[in-house]
Amino acid sequence: MKNKSVNRRDFFRLSAAAGAGAMIAPASAASALRTTTESKANDFPIRTLGRTGMKLPILSMGVMRADNPNVVRAAYNSGITHFDTAHGYQNGRNEEMLGNFFKDKPRNSFSIATKGKFQYPLKDSFEQDYTALLDLSLKRLQMDYVELFFTHALEKPEEVTGERIINCLKKFKADGKVKYLGFSTHALKPELIHAGIDAGVYDVILLSYNFKLKNLKETEEAIARGVKAGVGFIAMKTMTGAVEDTEGKKKINAQACLKWAWENENIATIIPGFTNFDELDECLAAANNPALSASEKDYLAMLCDKEMLFCQRCGKCSEECAEHLPVSELMRAYMYAYGYKYASLSKETLLELNLPDAKNLCRSCAGNCKVKCSSGFDVAAKIAAITPILEVPDMLLT
Ligand code: SF4
Ligand code: SF4
Repeated sequence: MKNKSVNRRDFFRLSAAAGAGAMIAPASAASALRTTTESKANDFPIRTLGRTGMKLPILSMGVMRADNPNVVRAAYNSGITHFDTAHGYQNGRNEEMLGNFFKDKPRNSFSIATKGKFQYPLKDSFEQDYTALLDLSLKRLQMDYVELFFTHALEKPEEVTGERIINCLKKFKADGKVKYLGFSTHALKPELIHAGIDAGVYDVILLSYNFKLKNLKETEEAIARGVKAGVGFIAMKTMTGAVEDTEGKKKINAQACLKWAWENENIATIIPGFTNFDELDECLAAANNPALSASEKDYLAMLCDKEMLFCQRCGKCSEECAEHLPVSELMRAYMYAYGYKYASLSKETLLELNLPDAKNLCRSCAGNCKVKCSSGFDVAAKIAAITPILEVPDMLLT
């Protein structure tokens, strides 16, 4: 199939032709781009997101790390219609950027997912706090409602099934602030998917899904059960940390990773977190030709046995660690910094762990780490390499 994506050269040319002369295209330039690329949505396969009935291109945008509205514009003008953000991304600036970008776009030409975290066990003020969180997200987005609202980064089944949580979510929907409900999870636990299906309230589950998963069979069985029950599935972390080595120097073949995930037709769409035009072009090229080739299959098979940056969340380390550290979360913080090169998210992840004396972890073991990581990570070395980020002022972090 012919790749009709807007590449960076075309983007600059079109912006200049429209009189922008720079990366920031005013409304007139955006119109020119839109006219030129209007039909591109038809180039992507479209899948239905469970019982929401939403028809989405298989490629969506994880806006998380993007801070250039022109990348959002290029994605939108290329036919991407679904944009995923969260209350906490870039301290709210991510939602604000989307709000400013979409304020003059037809509301039925795009859909937005945002997410909100809560502390568990719940505080007495949970309902009030969580409603204020959603209201602030809507204010930043300059919208009356979002299509999808996810409780964010759930780890335990009780965070999925908690009655107060579910009642609060139902009220969001009844108040018209949210069209459909869901939760997101990095936990790689099929039991969370089953809990979500059984709860009956979640229309969509956003989950980590990639070729490195060791519990792939159980995960895919849970997804298939969810699809039968009407739940829609969106995939993230398909690129397993964005690099194929442990040092974070060699970029992974993003197209192969995306195509692998699309092979599962139960995945409605994927939200890769592209941040620039080249990365967008790679994603578009994959979406326009989504069949996984034999050489791409071989490439991924080769990576399956290789140590990379993706933690399997098997939990083995939490029992072995002498200080009972949340090692898998620390490994996630490491992946954000060394894989995605997203240092601010790495620091945010570390701060959320509320570790006492976080700058001095592992001292009691003095070079004698007890953890035998099932992915082969030298977890003590990675912890030593990531915790200094806590000392770096936010303004210096990417
Ligand atoms: S043992 Fe390794 S792969 Fe398993 S959760 Fe811990 S760090 Fe992750
Ligand atoms: S060195 Fe290993 S066992 Fe000791 S605290 Fe660190 S991660 Fe845990």
